[in-house]
Amino acid sequence: MHGRAQDRWFDAFRLAASRGELSGRVDPQSLPRLEELVAGPGGHVDWTIRGCADAEGRPAITLALEGVVPLTCQRCLGTLTERVGRATLLLLARDDTDLVRLDEASEQEVVVAGEPLDPATLVEDELLLTLPFAPRHEGECADP
Ligand SMILES: [Zn+2]
Repeated sequence: MHGRAQDRWFDAFRLAASRGELSGRVDPQSLPRLEELVAGPGGHVDWTIRGCADAEGRPAITLALEGVVPLTCQRCLGTLTERVGRATLLLLARDDTDLVRLDEASEQEVVVAGEPLDPATLVEDELLLTLPFAPRHEGECADP
């Protein structure tokens, strides 16, 4: 329902050159690769993508995420609410060859952007990298 519409796809190199900005909101439950992680409805992640360049002038985007994702506590199997709040710089690669070259030359994350990108896929990738693998309630779990 959210963020999968084709009209959201964007040219990241053009966005970088114009220092443009896009934003939206996704329901983490709608992201297929998060299906096993997300505990149920009620989450949301607001995303902002800004065109920029890194310190060496290479085209890049920043992806900022802010929101909450319901996850299953691995100790009590209850639901916990994981807060998401981060911004990541992604260098833009033209193709896979470019990706390998940039990966070796930089500490930054690199994304292939020769074709238009779907913001929801970027958000999904970032959440897969950052959500805890084995989430647990902080401190004591509440009684079920
Ligand atoms: Zn728990």
